[in-house]
Parts: sequence; C-alpha cells; structure tokens
Amino acid sequence: MIMSTAGPPQGARPLQGGAEAHAVRKAGGGHTSEPLHSSGLRGRLAHDAPLAKYTSWRTGGAADTLYLPADRDDLAAFVRQLPPAEPLTVLGLGSNTLLRDGGVRGAVIVMHNPGAALAVTDGLVYADAGAACPKLARFAATHDCAEAEFLAGIPGTVGGALAMNAGCYGGETWRYVARVEVLTRAGEFEVRTPADYEVGYRHVAPLEGIFTAGWFRFPRGDGAAARRRIKALLERRLATQPLSLPNAGSVFRNPPGDHAARLIEACGLKGFAIGGARVSEKHANFIVNPRGQAKAADIEALIAHVRETVRAKTGVELVPEVRIVGEP
Ligand SMILES: Cc1cc2nc3c(=O)[nH]c(=O)nc-3n(C[C@H](O)[C@H](O)[C@H](O)COP(=O)(O)OP(=O)(O)OC[C@H]3O[C@@H](n4cnc5c(N)ncnc54)[C@H](O)[C@@H]3O)c2cc1C
Repeated sequence: MIMSTAGPPQGARPLQGGAEAHAVRKAGGGHTSEPLHSSGLRGRLAHDAPLAKYTSWRTGGAADTLYLPADRDDLAAFVRQLPPAEPLTVLGLGSNTLLRDGGVRGAVIVMHNPGAALAVTDGLVYADAGAACPKLARFAATHDCAEAEFLAGIPGTVGGALAMNAGCYGGETWRYVARVEVLTRAGEFEVRTPADYEVGYRHVAPLEGIFTAGWFRFPRGDGAAARRRIKALLERRLATQPLSLPNAGSVFRNPPGDHAARLIEACGLKGFAIGGARVSEKHANFIVNPRGQAKAADIEALIAHVRETVRAKTGVELVPEVRIVGEP
C-alpha cells in the first residue's frame, strides 16, 4: 500500500549533522569550501570525493559527486535537482559494500547521520534511515521493547538494514517493519508497507528509491533484560569476529543447511591472502584489511578465489552477500 507521508513524528529528535552547509571542491590537491545558499541545499556536497572512509573495508576510489544530506527534506531537494539520467548510489554506513578502486560515477549519497531521529509513536518505534542499527536496538530496549536486540550487532544504518533485510541470531529486520518511507528518484516521498515488498533471506525487492525512515512493531518486553541480551550478544561477537580490523561482516550468504564459514575453513582458506586482503583467522566468512592498505581489487580477487576453491572442493556455489559498487 503506497500512501503520501508527513515525515518524522512530532517530538522526534531532529537531525543535527548538516547544520554547516557548504560544498567542498578539490582545488590544486587541496579542498576549498564555498557556501551553497544559492542552491538551497543545507547538506555537505563534495566533488571528486574519496569514499574509503565511508566504507567499513576502508577501500575504494572517489565519487564524482558526494552528498551528505542535512535531513529528509534536504535529501529530497538534492535528488530533485539531479539530472534524471545521473547515476545515483546510496550508502548507509558502507558496512556491506565493497567500493571499487575506480570510484563511482554520478552522485553518491551517504545517509548515515549521527543525529538521526528515533521516537516512539502510536506503539511503533520510528527511526530515520540514517540512524545506526545499534542505536535503534538500545533505544528500543530503553523503551521496554523486546526482540530488537539483534540490531545491536549490525554496524549499519536502518536504511541499510531495510535494503538488506539484515539479521542475526534469529532476528530479521523486516519481521518487525510496520511501514517504511521511501524517497523516489523523482523526489517524492511515499509510505509503503511490507505488502509492497518481496522479502527473503538478505533479499528485498523492489529496491527502487531511497529508504528515509522505518516504523517498527517490536513486542513489549523487559528493557533491562533486553539490555543484558545486547551486552551478551556484543561479547559473543567480539569473541568470534575480527572486529578490530576493517571488514564488511559475512562476505557470503550461508548456503541452505550449511555455513559459508564452515565450508571456507574446511577448504583450508583461513589466513589466505591476496595483496592486502586476508581471509580472517578468527571467522572464515570475513575478509579483513589488516593494515588498511588493501585495494578493493585485492578483496574482489580474494572473493573470487574463495568461491572458486569452495566450488572445486565441495561443489557448493557461494553467493556473495556484500554489494560490489563502482568501477574496477
Ligand atoms: C562486523 C560486521 C558484522 C556484521 N554482521 C551482520 C549480521 O549479523 N547480519 C547482517 O545481516 N549483516 C551484518 N553485517 C553487514 C552489514 O552491517 C549489514 O548488511 C547492514 O544492514 C548494512 O547497512 P549499511 O548502512 O552499512 O549499508 P551499506 O553497506 O551502506 O549499503 C548496503 C546496501 O544497502 C543499500 N542502502 C543503504 N542505505 C539505503 C537506503 N537508505 N535506502 C536504500 N538503499 C540503501 C545500499 O545501496 C547497498 O546496496 C555486518 C557487517 C560488519 C562490518
């Protein structure tokens, strides 16, 4: 069901990130800023902008144009002024994205916003798409909701979790979605419900438009118990995942009835490296960038090598979970 929308609920904390509106342009190797008041935009605009710091793998070339919106209306203003044929790429926290070394043509919008709004409204938890999932998990626990704890271990944005149907430890994002707000490529806001989507394991379709918000229906629960579960979940992750090194979580989906990590380990690939990229010793389905010097091409070559080796030795075709974006 597609409806028109009125944006975040009253009382939701406002976005804070884009108060200082300016453009950043590369000039003779440095950067200069210029006011953008004439264009009416309030976010941060940059050209030929390096993207590595916007991804958890810390790789990738530059975006032709990079935009960090101040809020949803500013995002809409930016999208409306893009030429219709301009390629548009959306990033949240880049925690499931391999950004290639040749960079990204067209415009890249980074949705993560540390000041993103969270609120409780009509029994639902509202979250701006730019909010980090661990914040949503803690917010839900603070408001005596249960079952949002799994989001504490997902280091992406709410928008990224909606796009990926992110999940772990039995929880999955779309199980709790009451409705979402989407900004279309034409710059119009629409509210959609789960009935508008086909949702599966790390699969959501159709994925046109930008998620700008989600309303979640979590069951009522014991907030203190939820906070204890979050703590336990994070300790478990720290013990089993290479969280101190740049990575993008699980590289491959788990094949039906099995675990990608088990297959990769069984093929003797733990610790296998190409260039600066290495299969994690701690968790075989993670590829790490230990010195922060891996090229995206190293990671992509390692992904291909792991796939080929697992296929040759076990007959299983691993399917990447990470999204590969940009020019080689
Ligand atoms: C240490 C670690 C652990 C992880 N553990 C898990 C886990 O347990 N379970 C799990 O599912 N994932 C896990 N991940 C992967 C990742 O965190 C999730 O897939 C997360 O949902 C990605 O969110 P993001 O904002 O970083 O998305 P990005 O990587 O920025 O983008 C991913 C995709 O979503 C799209 N997208 C992002 N924001 C929007 C938006 N607002 N509107 C439309 N499309 C959008 C992008 O275009 C892209 O296609 C892990 C990653 C790391 C680094």
